[in-house]
Amino acid sequence: MASPLSFSFELFPPRTPEGVAKLPSVIGQLAAVRPDYFSITYGAGGSNQDGTYETLVTVARHSGVEAAPHLTCVGSTRAHIAALLKRYREAGVKRIVALRGDLPATAMSASAPGEFHYANELVSFIRETCGEAFKIEVAAYPETHPQAPSPGADFEHFRRKVEAGADGALTQLFYNADAYFDFMERCGKAGIKIPVVPGIMPITSCANTVRFCAGCGADLPRWVRLRLEELENDKPALVDFGLDVVTRLCQTLLGNGAPGLHFYTVNQADPALRLWKRLGLPALG
Ligand SMILES: Cc1cc2nc3c(=O)[nH]c(=O)nc-3n(C[C@H](O)[C@H](O)[C@H](O)COP(=O)(O)OP(=O)(O)OC[C@H]3O[C@@H](n4cnc5c(N)ncnc54)[C@H](O)[C@@H]3O)c2cc1C
Repeated sequence: MASPLSFSFELFPPRTPEGVAKLPSVIGQLAAVRPDYFSITYGAGGSNQDGTYETLVTVARHSGVEAAPHLTCVGSTRAHIAALLKRYREAGVKRIVALRGDLPATAMSASAPGEFHYANELVSFIRETCGEAFKIEVAAYPETHPQAPSPGADFEHFRRKVEAGADGALTQLFYNADAYFDFMERCGKAGIKIPVVPGIMPITSCANTVRFCAGCGADLPRWVRLRLEELENDKPALVDFGLDVVTRLCQTLLGNGAPGLHFYTVNQADPALRLWKRLGLPALG
């Protein structure tokens, strides 16, 4: 029997008093459609570790939904990561999104301080120290991680994370469904069977979409960019267009075997819920 599909929403720890005040309502609206879990980002370099924990507590307080913290390792030490894992275990966390994270170039060199350099080392460390206490999700890059020397090398690095004990993967945002299908074909050939859930970024603004894509090396198809530029001064039309584009992407993915969707909400309930409704997903509140 096929596994049930997984639907999740990603949140970030709010950085402003207004963001903090708004978060419970965002969580409440998203929780009403009964996602499988919320994931909560974690700033590389430790800038908002407490924010991740506090957001986790807010999710627990305002929803009955599982919360999965992201954990980045670059520049960190085993003792520090072990302390965070202990804290999460005590808080009842069952799933971790295990990542390398990004730091300035100086901190990424082989001589950089810190005992971890790549996410596969973090996955191994979690398994060594916590056994099966956590389900581990890792990142996948259908369009190749921007720092990777080649798609093949990047895929080998992904395979290492799976071999280290990842249970599942969440992809970087993308707008070309074929890149995902190509990645899944490569997984099939490599005997990788873990679910790889597409990461979906709703489109609600031209500038933000261009910026998000540039920031993570995702390809924004030319025709989409041109249409967004054209609609830049007509917000309702732009939002409708963005909804059409991303709905079709999600339908294509789900219709061809994707094991669920992970929505990058950017702490906004409406865009993800509009997509949810357009996709006819169950339990809309
Ligand atoms: C779903 C998702 C959630 C994210 N959440 C966060 C977050 O909360 N906080 C945050 O700071 N960032 C987050 N990121 C961004 C992520 O931290 C960056 O993309 C980062 O640059 C790579 O992280 P990774 O875990 O994929 O790293 P890795 O898998 O370690 O890969 C990083 C790069 O190194 C290469 N590589 C991997 N292993 C080796 C090796 N052994 N030898 C040589 N090269 C190697 C890979 O090919 C790749 O180019 C997220 C990304 C995704 C897709």
